[in-house]
Amino acid sequence: MSGRTHDRACPERTCVGCRERAAKSDLLRIVVVGGECVPDDRGTLPGRGAYVHPASVCLDLAVRRRAFPRAFRAQGPLDTAGVRRYVEQAAP
Ligand SMILES: [Zn+2]
Repeated sequence: MSGRTHDRACPERTCVGCRERAAKSDLLRIVVVGGECVPDDRGTLPGRGAYVHPASVCLDLAVRRRAFPRAFRAQGPLDTAGVRRYVEQAAP
């Protein structure tokens, strides 16, 4: 990292994939729209959000752990294809 000191003004969130804490701005916010996980890259969509590193390893971990249904208190599995597409574009 760039030697940034811990800054209270910079909120932290836990990645639902690797479970590491990171600055909110370093994580991708995910919201659910109609049973589908969608990336909220601007952080503007309403509703409950889950945070994950925009990396396929973290997304894989999150999917394997069923972290998204848990985070969103969903009854069944959630479609993560849209998030995967986003992550793969962001980090080729
Ligand atoms: Zn992560």
